[in-house]
Amino acid sequence: MSKKVKFQTPTGMHDILPEDQFLYEKIWRVVDDVAAFYGFGKIETPLVEDAALFEKGTGGTTDIVEKQMYTLKTRGGDMLALRPEFTPGIVRSYIQHGMIALPQPVKLYAYGPLFRYEHPQAGRFRQFRQVDFEVFGEQSAALDAQIIQIFYVILKELKFSHLIIEVNSIGDNQCRPYYKKLLSGYLRPRQNSLCADCRRRIRENPLRTLDCKEEKCQRVRSQAPQLIDHLCEECKNHFKSLLEFLDETDLPYHLDPYLVRGLDYYTKTVFEIFSEQTMKTTGEGGEVVQRNALVGGGRYDGLVHLLGGKDVPASGAAAGVERIVSFLKEMEFAAAPAPVARIFLAQLGDLSKKKSLRLLEEFRKAKIQIAESLGRDSLRTQLARADKLEVEYTAILGQKEVLDGTIVLRKMDTGEQETLKLEKVVEEIKERLRK
Ligand code: AMP
Repeated sequence: MSKKVKFQTPTGMHDILPEDQFLYEKIWRVVDDVAAFYGFGKIETPLVEDAALFEKGTGGTTDIVEKQMYTLKTRGGDMLALRPEFTPGIVRSYIQHGMIALPQPVKLYAYGPLFRYEHPQAGRFRQFRQVDFEVFGEQSAALDAQIIQIFYVILKELKFSHLIIEVNSIGDNQCRPYYKKLLSGYLRPRQNSLCADCRRRIRENPLRTLDCKEEKCQRVRSQAPQLIDHLCEECKNHFKSLLEFLDETDLPYHLDPYLVRGLDYYTKTVFEIFSEQTMKTTGEGGEVVQRNALVGGGRYDGLVHLLGGKDVPASGAAAGVERIVSFLKEMEFAAAPAPVARIFLAQLGDLSKKKSLRLLEEFRKAKIQIAESLGRDSLRTQLARADKLEVEYTAILGQKEVLDGTIVLRKMDTGEQETLKLEKVVEEIKERLRK
């Protein structure tokens, strides 16, 4: 005998059930409002793009491309990838649609699912959602500060209280190559104290050793030379100007000289926003502060050109939606406000059940929220449900009423009943509810 197959969501992916939809909708609402205020236009790009777009854009030596990308070969032989991040697709769209001809800066935002082949763990999924904001055509640090401010405001609107912004500058083509050499020179004699990945990174991309989570690598890192001490004049001024803008907006930021972010395309500004939560430990009344990365972003002045466009400076960031949702759930964010029905429709017998569908639609058109229990046959069960919903009236449609073209209206608090003409019932109820 064959075993029954039990299908599950693929590893690291999840359903969003009706009872959780309101949390996501709440986030979309806040994001849409903030975006509209700051003049961002919404963009939707395909879930799949040419795999080469990410290999080139996100970067061949990044974890995202090297280890986490879902690629597929189409029947026509094209190599596509499920998008692991928004930025390259939006840059492609900016170039493809000639947005350079529009008044700059061009401000775009998006939200939706992304895919990364991660080791699933708390807050890390293989299909997750991000909210993404990008600005093209402006090199001023004011725009970097505005992107940071926008994400900070979104999180504040969603009632986050303990937020920390970490900022850094990772320089540009002028100053970074020299720093990379300096860093490799520092790391090489210490490579035996590094993890295997970081030993490889010394050759391929030494900056990536700075954001390694391994404790031994962090120990080596703590004495490493810092990029901000080796910025060229232009990057130094840009960073100084960013900090001045942040001071002016009163955003609570820290400078983290080892923040590099995992992507190749960043230039100058990089930043992350964390929420901090104090968690109780099982030991004697101990507490630990847990940090949760919610937003990551930065400036990417070379990416538009790299992907075939003109030399257009740009800046952007993305927030992890599932992590925001899990916070909202922990905050016991008010449950979804269920639509409150003031009327219940009870039906008896097949004929009235058939009439009920049309009648319900008439109530919908009249914008009267009405509850029903079409699957039930007994009047008692239906009235019990109506009681539970605390409706004011129950309209009862029996076999006899259908034949007579009438309906019984029961006032729930007094139990009084009267018979109305079926064709008039919607109008009549509307009138009563208005009183
Ligand atoms: P990144 O695109 O890697 O810079 O990430 C930006 C934000 O997206 C992070 O701070 C997280 O909040 C969220 N994020 C990134 N990867 C995942 C994932 N695999 N699952 C859930 N959220 C993620």
